[in-house]
Amino acid sequence: MLEIKNLHASVEGKEILKGLNLNVKAGEIHAIMGPNGAGKSTLANIVAGKEEYEVTEGEILLKGEDIEELAAEERAHKGVFLSFQYPVEIPGVTVTNFMKTAINETRKAQGLEEMPAKDMLKKIREKSELLEIDRKFLSRSLNEGFSGGEKKRNEIFQMAMMEPKLAILDETDSGLDIDALRIVANGVNKLKNHDNAIVVITHYQRLLEYIVPDFVHVLYDGKIVKSGTKELALELEEKGYDWIKEEIKI
Ligand code: ADP
Ligand code: MG
Ligand code: MG
Repeated sequence: MLEIKNLHASVEGKEILKGLNLNVKAGEIHAIMGPNGAGKSTLANIVAGKEEYEVTEGEILLKGEDIEELAAEERAHKGVFLSFQYPVEIPGVTVTNFMKTAINETRKAQGLEEMPAKDMLKKIREKSELLEIDRKFLSRSLNEGFSGGEKKRNEIFQMAMMEPKLAILDETDSGLDIDALRIVANGVNKLKNHDNAIVVITHYQRLLEYIVPDFVHVLYDGKIVKSGTKELALELEEKGYDWIKEEIKI
C-alpha cells in the first residue's frame, strides 16, 4: 500500500528526514514511535502532501504509484487520510454536514455522482454506531467547544466515513482520557480490513495497549532505526529511547 524508499526531506533548508525506508502492506497496522523532534509528524505531513516540505531524494509509492507530484487533495482522493492534530472550528456547520460535503467532494473528484441522501444517512448511522457516537454529537458545530476526546472521536468518525486506503494517525493519544482512547482504538481496530493500511504515530506506548500493531518502528533522527513487533513498544516504554541511541552508534 505504502512504500517509502530512501526518503530525504527538508524544511526551510534543514534536513529532517535522512534516508527513511518504510513498507506498509494492505491489512497491516504499523506504529511509529520516537522521541520528540525525530521527524514523525514531518513524515506524516509529507506522505499527505503538505507543501512546506521539500523532498530532496527518494520515493513515496501508494499502491505502486509515485505520488510525489500530487497535491494533498489529490492524494486524499486516492485514499490517503491524515488525522488533524489541530482541527479547525467551523461554527454553524454540523459534524454531519461537514462529512456529507467531504464525501460528495471526494466522489465528485473521482467522477462519481453524489451519494443518495438515504445511503448517506445509512452510512452515518452505521459508522456512528460502530464508534459509539451519539446523535447529539452529530448535530453539533464542527469542533466548536469540543473537548480533546471529542475532537479525536470526530477524527476517527471522519476516517470511518471516508474509508481511506491509507490512514495516518498522528499522536492520536494526546489529550485523550482513557475512555476516549479506548473508543479511538476500538474504532481503528474495527476499521482495519485487508484492503487498507493504518499507520499510528505515537509518542507513548499507552495507545498500543488497545491498538495491536503488526509492526512497530522507531523513528530517530530522520530515519527508521529499528523495527519489530509490539514487544518493541513495551521495551521502549520501559527503557526510553536512549538505548537506541547507544545501539545505532555501533
Ligand atoms: P516529531 O513529530 O517526531 O516530534 P517533527 O516532525 O514535528 O517531529 O519535527 C522534526 C523537526 O523538524 C523538528 O526539529 C522541527 O522543529 C522541525 N520542523 C518540522 N516541521 C517544521 C516546519 N513546518 N518548519 C520548520 N521546522 C519544522
Ligand atoms: Mg513533536
Ligand atoms: Mg509530532
